[in-house]
Amino acid sequence: MEKNSYDFELGKIKELIKERGAKRVGLQLPEGIKTVATDIAAEISKETGAEVIISGNSCYGACDIDEKLMRNVDMLFHFGHTDTFSFYKRKPVLKENYQKKVVFVELRSGVDVKPVVEKAVAEIKGDTVGLVATVQHVHALKEAKILLARFGKKAIIGKSRLKYDGQVLGCEFSSAMGTCEEILFVSSGGFHPAGIALYVGKRVIAADPFTMQIGVYEADELRKKRYLVIARALDAKSVAIIVGMKTGQFELSKAIALKRKTVEKGLKAYLITMNEITEDNLLAFNVDAFVNTACPRLVEDFTHFKKPVLSIKEFEVVLGEVRWEDCFVLP
Ligand code: SF4
Repeated sequence: MEKNSYDFELGKIKELIKERGAKRVGLQLPEGIKTVATDIAAEISKETGAEVIISGNSCYGACDIDEKLMRNVDMLFHFGHTDTFSFYKRKPVLKENYQKKVVFVELRSGVDVKPVVEKAVAEIKGDTVGLVATVQHVHALKEAKILLARFGKKAIIGKSRLKYDGQVLGCEFSSAMGTCEEILFVSSGGFHPAGIALYVGKRVIAADPFTMQIGVYEADELRKKRYLVIARALDAKSVAIIVGMKTGQFELSKAIALKRKTVEKGLKAYLITMNEITEDNLLAFNVDAFVNTACPRLVEDFTHFKKPVLSIKEFEVVLGEVRWEDCFVLP
């Protein structure tokens, strides 16, 4: 990972540390960016005199604040995401006074998106397309829209419940909900476009400005794969309900309510806490199926697990409470 690929806003960070007189600061970086963590720590430490502590834990999203580290520092710089404290679906994950300690650094990318958008035009079937991006590229959507107009495509940058129009998270796709049947996702990675296709039910063209790769995600194909996973859970006699222990993914009340409902239906049900939901972490448990109440963005990975791992809505299909066609709803 090139440190130059993103704006780390180090000047602003150093100023803030000095302004607030912070003596000890934390850094939290997403997985792909951790390679530059030590360089950043060294620079901050040298120029501000602050003790810098890097979070070595996984960091998958804006809701994933390293709380323990935050309690032990004067400021925590969380890279790669926007503040979602006010996002209506994520209850305030930290008490107000703690929120002030966290500074979000959005990691805007300076890469030119025009070449990959131009390449993606061939995949756009209709005349109108919805344009979305992660926060790293959301500022480039207007430029992409102008370029698409030159190719006779009307692009719509949808309103978002997040900080910026056109912005998406792995669990928030309001900007893709408009009238367009196709979405052009201008950013890296596969789980956002897969999530949009699955949950919004639209065809998604993913254009990666770094690799110049174009991917196409068909809603029907992804939904069929999930139906197969649900079908494998129909005979389950025992279920483990996973409670995510990451700060913004802790849904204990929902999990307990689901457990009660499951037991009433005559199945055995257990509650299991977990930080990371991996196949290895599930192997030891002697149950027929799992239900994930934590981050929904991992659904694509779960499709390949040996035992079925369902979302709450998908599991409600198994319980006979939700119709198959109504289960692709984000929690
Ligand atoms: S729940 Fe998942 S997708 Fe949503 S902000 Fe948290 S890590 Fe990201």
